[in-house]
Amino acid sequence: MTHITTPHPGHGSCTLVGAGPGDPELLTIKALKAIQTATVLLVDDLVSDAIVALASPKARIVHVGKRGGCKSTPQAFIEKLILMAVREGETVVRLKGGDPFVFGRGGEEVEHLQAAGIPVTVVNGITAGLAAVTSLGVPLTHREHAHGVVFITGHAKPGDSGTDWKALAATAHSARLTLVIYMGVSGAQHIQDELLFGLPANTPVAVIQNASLASQRHAVCTLAELEHTITREKLTSPSVIVVGDVLQGTLALQQALPEARAACA
Ligand code: SAH
Repeated sequence: MTHITTPHPGHGSCTLVGAGPGDPELLTIKALKAIQTATVLLVDDLVSDAIVALASPKARIVHVGKRGGCKSTPQAFIEKLILMAVREGETVVRLKGGDPFVFGRGGEEVEHLQAAGIPVTVVNGITAGLAAVTSLGVPLTHREHAHGVVFITGHAKPGDSGTDWKALAATAHSARLTLVIYMGVSGAQHIQDELLFGLPANTPVAVIQNASLASQRHAVCTLAELEHTITREKLTSPSVIVVGDVLQGTLALQQALPEARAACA
């Protein structure tokens, strides 16, 4: 039998669970079991309602994201809530979108809880970048086009100088890497301008919003058209931006479509 939580002697337990990109069918079995057995769930914004609905009707559900236009709950407060609940003997599940250790600040949360004497078990989720690209039928590392993949944030921590996009572009070009950019939509113009120093203007790019949900939308274009396409298609957060030759076929198909339509008309 698999134990999905680490018991804290005389207390409850805490499990940090990756809820995946949104589609409940993309949850792991471990994640599902943890959600169903939780007595307290602390839920981030990017976790879909369909996943929260899998919790026990008796469970206490606390939304700690920016839902309803409120500012998101401060991290220290979330950690305090978890500490209190575990000490009261609750089975706490902290639900985060995608994978908890991919840009989810899960690492910080685990460090703080462990420092307070609370052991935390972590359950992986499918990260949004993976689900987004797969939904277009595109393999991230098709060996004809890429030797690897970089998951990178477009939004650095305050005070951090951020990514050196020019250097990254040069490396991605020479090492044939696919770039998967999280939280990049609002900074797309800057990212585009900098990446163009090292990558060809006709490098294929895809922007995928709400991957795996019924509301999913996407656009495919060239790197030189990235910001223009995001604005024209009104693509907003949460979206991932994928850059690389693995999208060549998808872009070619899209460019061929208007011509094919015109030829049929
Ligand atoms: N831990 C999460 C990432 C959290 S950072 C994961 O592994 O997926 C938040 C960013 O993730 C968003 O700004 C967006 O870039 C991306 N994201 C999360 N869910 C998404 C979805 N369903 N579709 C597209 N992008 C998503």
